[in-house]
Amino acid sequence: MRTPYKPPIVAVLTRYYPHWQPPAQRGGWTKCLCPFHDERTPSASINFEKNRVHCFACDLSLDSIDVIQKEEGVKFIEATRLAESRFGGSSQALSQPVRGEPSRTIHSQPRFGVRGRQVQTRLRFRADHGT
Ligand SMILES: [Zn+2]
Repeated sequence: MRTPYKPPIVAVLTRYYPHWQPPAQRGGWTKCLCPFHDERTPSASINFEKNRVHCFACDLSLDSIDVIQKEEGVKFIEATRLAESRFGGSSQALSQPVRGEPSRTIHSQPRFGVRGRQVQTRLRFRADHGT
C-alpha cells in the first residue's frame, strides 16, 4: 500500500488560517500560538518533522491530513486527494521546462512556393507565344 502524501503542516495551516503566524522552523516540538483559537500566550506546539500540530487548550492533535479533513469536512481518502492536488502534484508539473518547436517546416515551405510560381509564369509565357 502506498503511503499517502502529507503536505507540510505549515503550508496547510497558513492556507486555512491566513492570519496565523508560523514559528521559525526547528527540530522537535516548537511552541506557537494556536491556529484554531484566539490567544496571546502560546499553548500550542508544532512539529515540522512529524507534520503535526497540538493544542493543549483545544485538546487537539492533528497532522496535515487531519487539518484538511477537519476544514473540508471530508473523509481521510478524500483529504489525501486534496492534499496532492492542492499542496503537492500540481506544483511539480508547473516547474517542468517548456521547449520551443524546431522551425524546419517553416523554412522549407516558402522555397517550394517560389519554385511553384516560377513554373507557372514560364507556362503562361509559352502559352502567350502560341496564340
Ligand atoms: Zn487551540
